[in-house]
Amino acid sequence: MKKKKFNLEDIPGVGPKLADKLTETGFTDPMSIAVASPGELARILEIGKATAGKIINNVRQMLKMGYTSADKVWEQRKKIGKISTGSQALDELLGGGVETQAITETYGQFGSGKSQIGFQLSVNVQLPPEKGGLNANCLFIDTEATFRPGRISQIATALGLDSNKILKNIYVARAYNSDHEVFLVEKANEIIEDKKIRLLIIDSLTSHFRADYIGRGELAPRQQKLNKLLHHLQRLADSMNLAVFVTNQVLSNPAILFGDPTRPVGGHVLAHQSTYRIYLRKSSGEKRIAKMMDSPNLPPGECIFRITPEGIRDVK
Ligand code: ADP
Ligand code: MG
Repeated sequence: MKKKKFNLEDIPGVGPKLADKLTETGFTDPMSIAVASPGELARILEIGKATAGKIINNVRQMLKMGYTSADKVWEQRKKIGKISTGSQALDELLGGGVETQAITETYGQFGSGKSQIGFQLSVNVQLPPEKGGLNANCLFIDTEATFRPGRISQIATALGLDSNKILKNIYVARAYNSDHEVFLVEKANEIIEDKKIRLLIIDSLTSHFRADYIGRGELAPRQQKLNKLLHHLQRLADSMNLAVFVTNQVLSNPAILFGDPTRPVGGHVLAHQSTYRIYLRKSSGEKRIAKMMDSPNLPPGECIFRITPEGIRDVK
């Protein structure tokens, strides 16, 4: 098994206890510490801001960083893998599929196809690259009790795959509340490395947060916790070259009289931190409309795909 070359305890000012805390919160990659803000690190580690600032500076010195040359950034980005959704149109909308080193969010009404895309991806990630996969496995965090191995088996069989083998390579955890969800993500490091995971699905990211923080006064702590979770997910995505696929519920805003009143849960926090945001809508029958709402490098656009008994497919 590959072990980390970088020893957190080598950072001046970091003892075994702090090293554990860093590992637990996903700061296993020195670069993730180097690019953290003192405020963020202080909050997460529950230490003073000045101490956090010193640790960050020490790591930056160890990495000899000020700037990274663009070719190094490019080198890292060349490692990005893409997982096919099963629909070429949807893949194209996503710039070639669901990417590693990024968080892809889909939001939409009940039945719009969020979970189905997740199921399809959990199978497709296991395919070889020439078939749209990464020859790797999937970690699936189920918060709504809607994970359906039977459906996944159907999708796998339709591709001519051994469904038992496919199901064995999908590691499922049921999250019972938002704390538990955070806990599962914080514990994901090890299993990601050990089980060759390249896709992490959270279906859905927000349902527990919505249920656990109900009152108006609880909005700020909820957003703070969601923010921390998303930072953690982005760090995992970067350091493990992992695709993070999350689904999100929608709210209907009664104040909007004209136009589409649905909007995603999670507010600005989620809007800023998902790399790609896809809005899903039902069309007639099997058809669904996907719209790219936000992306750093892709044009806005729309496509239609289908949810068939065999899984996600193009419109014929
Ligand atoms: P959500 O966005 O709420 O997660 P889903 O991804 O669960 O929605 O999509 C549910 C829809 O997927 C159903 O309404 C149905 O149209 C379709 N679907 C689910 N299972 C099958 C199946 N076995 N065959 C065909 N279509 C299916
Ligand atoms: Mg669902």
